[in-house]
Amino acid sequence: MTQQQEQLEAKAYFSRHLLEWYHGQKRDLPWRRHRNPYYIWISEIMLQQTRVDTVIPYFNRFIERFPTVESLADAPEEDVLKCWEGLGYYSRARNLQHAARQVKEQYGGQVPNDREAVFSLKGVGPYTAGAILSIAFNRPEPAVDGNVMRVLSRYFLLEDDIAKGPTRIKMERLAAELIPEGEASHFNQALMELGALVCTPKSPRCLPCPVMEHCSARLAGRETSLPVKTKAKPPRPEERLAALVEGRGAHAGRVLIRQRPASGLLARMWELPHWPAPPADDGAGSGGPLPADAALDRLRRSLRTAGISARPEAHYMAAEHTFSHIVWTLQVYRCREEEALPRVAEGRVVYGAGAAASAIDAGGPQIELFADGSGSREDSGAVRWITREDMANYAFPNVFLKLLTAYFDEQDVRSRASE
Ligand code: SF4
Repeated sequence: MTQQQEQLEAKAYFSRHLLEWYHGQKRDLPWRRHRNPYYIWISEIMLQQTRVDTVIPYFNRFIERFPTVESLADAPEEDVLKCWEGLGYYSRARNLQHAARQVKEQYGGQVPNDREAVFSLKGVGPYTAGAILSIAFNRPEPAVDGNVMRVLSRYFLLEDDIAKGPTRIKMERLAAELIPEGEASHFNQALMELGALVCTPKSPRCLPCPVMEHCSARLAGRETSLPVKTKAKPPRPEERLAALVEGRGAHAGRVLIRQRPASGLLARMWELPHWPAPPADDGAGSGGPLPADAALDRLRRSLRTAGISARPEAHYMAAEHTFSHIVWTLQVYRCREEEALPRVAEGRVVYGAGAAASAIDAGGPQIELFADGSGSREDSGAVRWITREDMANYAFPNVFLKLLTAYFDEQDVRSRASE
């Protein structure tokens, strides 16, 4: 047999055995129960960077709340973010809603069965477009993500760096060749399923693998050294000081939250006020968190500059929030609302490089926040005093959701103990 014939045989074997295995082993996932392109689209966006187990309850809630493209297009953005709360990478939710509006306006609410049209939707890249077109419409389009590249690199013993763009193009060509006629939907799902369940990143389960007999990496003992992938730059660490401001008097039992600017990181989501902290100068240049006194002093100044009348009292907890390019380490301090400075009511907040608080009332005071690079003078948001029950009305990034939940849990325990 020539090398070319061997290649063809290996490809045909792969497709045949993978499909057979899939029909017997596929998981019962909610988005697999229909061929609804909208459901498939939502699931594929949610599954980016997120595990299936995590996605399932989010998917079910999302579909119940936004059952059609139109319902998603017409919803307030706050509701969409609230439904996405905890899933992370919130730009996915915003892009999804933007794209739903495109589908409503340009395609009468029907997800288009057309490569160019699907590609034109906000947040839809080559993988998602391929997944929608193949899974929902059974079109022979490849859907190549990191999982698929791992499987193909191993099975065909490919040593190309999967972090590089040209490798993806090569893999897409190969994946398209492997799709058996009329089987694009099942085949692409089978490939994804193999990557998720069997040919996993660290410990591929080669023995029960349906394509093990012809897998070149396994035959060469290379299954754990492939794929080749150059490491991404690690996220940059950033120390921040956060204020958990507890209300008094009319605000007793409430905590102050603010809304982030309308654009940029975590746009329009709600959070505890926080600002960057300069690294501690320990003389060795190693940085790290500020000592408590310096942190309290810094936070006092930040709060003052922001026009928030509160006094930092004690360290409460540390928490981390990881983005793809940055890791926040938040040192959270309990702060008490004060009477001495003008009280922050519920109102608008202007983020910017301003040094002084300005009280421009428009249904509430307007406050310039400390220069933290998190927004421009044009960005605006709001502040609110909230109870635990009010949390249901605001979308928080994970780290603040957990912080606030922990805080209110603790308050409940205390109040029960004092009864
Ligand atoms: S035999 Fe092992 S390395 Fe090859 S595709 Fe199967 S699980 Fe992956």
